[in-house]
Amino acid sequence: MNITVVGSGTVVPRLARRQSCVAVEMGEETLLFDLGSGAVRGMLHAGLDPFAVDRIFFTHFHPDHTIDVVPLMFSLNYGSEQGRERPLTLYGPEPFTRFFGKIADTWGEWILGGFPTEVRELPHVCPSPLDLPGLSVRWSPAEHRPESIAYRLEGENGGFVYTGDTEYAESVVELAQGAHTLLIECAFPDEGAVPGHLTPSGVARIAREAGVERVVLTHIYPAADELDLKQEVGHGFDGKVLVAEDGMRFSI
Ligand SMILES: [Zn+2]
Ligand SMILES: [Zn+2]
Repeated sequence: MNITVVGSGTVVPRLARRQSCVAVEMGEETLLFDLGSGAVRGMLHAGLDPFAVDRIFFTHFHPDHTIDVVPLMFSLNYGSEQGRERPLTLYGPEPFTRFFGKIADTWGEWILGGFPTEVRELPHVCPSPLDLPGLSVRWSPAEHRPESIAYRLEGENGGFVYTGDTEYAESVVELAQGAHTLLIECAFPDEGAVPGHLTPSGVARIAREAGVERVVLTHIYPAADELDLKQEVGHGFDGKVLVAEDGMRFSI
């Protein structure tokens, strides 16, 4: 499983950090997790082909995690010389059908119709993992918005968890239990904590309680960016800590 942090930023516009997007390449398939502003161009910067996307998973509906679905689908519809035949599947937490239905109502045939599209609404608690080529996907509620969920991908070399936006939650600790890599938001400094988001000590607590091997920090607001986040998280977690940058790649 090859993972690329396409965007490691937030609602605050920054040249160095695009809004949230993570790409996972597994065999023939490319999966995206969240699609904030700048994600489509961010894929190009990271050497990824936006036309190669097979599946898109959303953690929640905030624009900094969803807005680039419109330019991506518009490009899939009209931006490729070959035209697209392979299906695109969109997954999101309930009420995703209603949420995506409004996007589809607004942009209509400009984003839909040129290729097969499937919309799958995920219940908050995962009834059974999705079996995809080379990996399985399960999820758990996250603590941010009522619809928020975090995802876990299980491949042959271990588990990869992407939290999306969240604060400390037992459901996220459980989901991340024994994972190889935890890509987790680290939004604010401890002294400037904001409900619904994590600070370095909260990240460390989740990573420690879940017993993960490695954490990668993302969704970093400017105030947190000024800290030595590796050291801050290291005060409460013994494993490996990386601070994401746009275009950072790692494998599991
Ligand atoms: Zn966010
Ligand atoms: Zn959010």
